[in-house]
Amino acid sequence: MRPASPIWLFDLDDTLHNASAHIFPQINTAMTRYLAEHLTVDDATANALRMKYWRKYGATMLGMLREHRTNPRHFLYHTHQFENLAELVVFDRALLTHLRHLPGRRYLFSNAPRAYLDGILRITGLHRVLHGSFSIEDLGFHPKPQPQAYIHVLRQLRVAPARCIMVEDSAANLREAKRLGMRTIWISRAAKRPAWVDQKITSARLLRA
Ligand SMILES: [Mg+2]
Repeated sequence: MRPASPIWLFDLDDTLHNASAHIFPQINTAMTRYLAEHLTVDDATANALRMKYWRKYGATMLGMLREHRTNPRHFLYHTHQFENLAELVVFDRALLTHLRHLPGRRYLFSNAPRAYLDGILRITGLHRVLHGSFSIEDLGFHPKPQPQAYIHVLRQLRVAPARCIMVEDSAANLREAKRLGMRTIWISRAAKRPAWVDQKITSARLLRA
């Protein structure tokens, strides 16, 4: 019997395109503004809270939901408004051909909201080389690295973790993937590799089966 082909689980932001260049700064500003407005605090306090929730929960949205009962859809809608998303995207189009040639099936596994995720997929053309995608709504608002997020994806795809290769720029998100039995590839320029990372590369263009 042939070994089962791999299931690739790709993070989106800063894994398949460069979100740090223009997109993250805008989202961070929008989130700080949202927190300041809805929690009635000044900008400095709002910014500190935004980062605190991101560190504690893996996503600012989850901190707002848990600690302030904020509606996650309302929060995500208002913090992901872009006048011209296409102008903000930094993407290497050669990645499309590269991903298409990877054996197995390819899915997006992202903490981002659906509208934004679909926008990026359309602008980059990534939708043409992927077999499907999971947004934060699809994950029942359980972001990585919460175990529920991974288990949801495994159940939906009906695959065993041992078949999955997770590709991520967040080492924290790979830790849970490894704990469940997935192979882990970290997109990073860091000098050291944590024990739960199987492979470290600087760009998705360097992925090999
Ligand atoms: Mg990322």
